Order: sequence, then C-alpha cells, then structure tokens
Amino acid sequence: MKKPHFFCEHCGAEVRKDARVCPRCGRFFSSVKCPKCGHAGMPDDFSFGCPVCGYAIAANAPPEPIKPQPSPLPAPPLPWWAFLAVGLTLMGLLLVLLRSLG
Ligand SMILES: [Zn+2]
Ligand SMILES: [Zn+2]
Repeated sequence: MKKPHFFCEHCGAEVRKDARVCPRCGRFFSSVKCPKCGHAGMPDDFSFGCPVCGYAIAANAPPEPIKPQPSPLPAPPLPWWAFLAVGLTLMGLLLVLLRSLG
C-alpha cells in the first residue's frame, strides 16, 4: 500500500496526515466545510467527499469519486403462471403416458 503524503499548501513542506500546523512555516491549515451539511473537518477527511453526507467537494482537488456504473438489469424472474404452465404440461404428459400404459 502506498502511504498518502500531505504537503503544506503554503510552503510545500511535507507534513503529517493529521498535522494542523505546518512544522516549517507555522501556518495553520484551513479546514474544509461541507456546503451541504455543514460538516467541518480537515481536507483529508474530504478526500472522497463529505464523510457525513457524501457531498463531493472540489476544493483541494480530491480525486474524482468513481460513479457507480449502472449494472445491467438481471433477467426478470419467471412469472408464477410460467411455473403453472410448465406444471400443467408435465401433468398432461404424465396423464398421456399413464393412459398409454394402461
Ligand atoms: Zn508550511
Ligand atoms: Zn456534508
């Protein structure tokens, strides 16, 4: 697994993932606020959209969330009368068979 790296937006120094202040320039990192539900957190929390409501925030250039592909519809199950028709057909064949035997 590749560990994510985080850099100070001000001086470019690499900082810890959960750092709130840049150790080099001392700048406080701005938090991101979700415009939809108002949840505020570090930009890292929003890398895949708002952790609360899922709203995707374009700030800090997070990777585009992968949209779920619409899965092809599964074949509809056979209606109940299909089973009835098959059952009746089999029963009819059975009757014909019995009659031919008897
Ligand atoms: Zn910095
Ligand atoms: Zn939200």
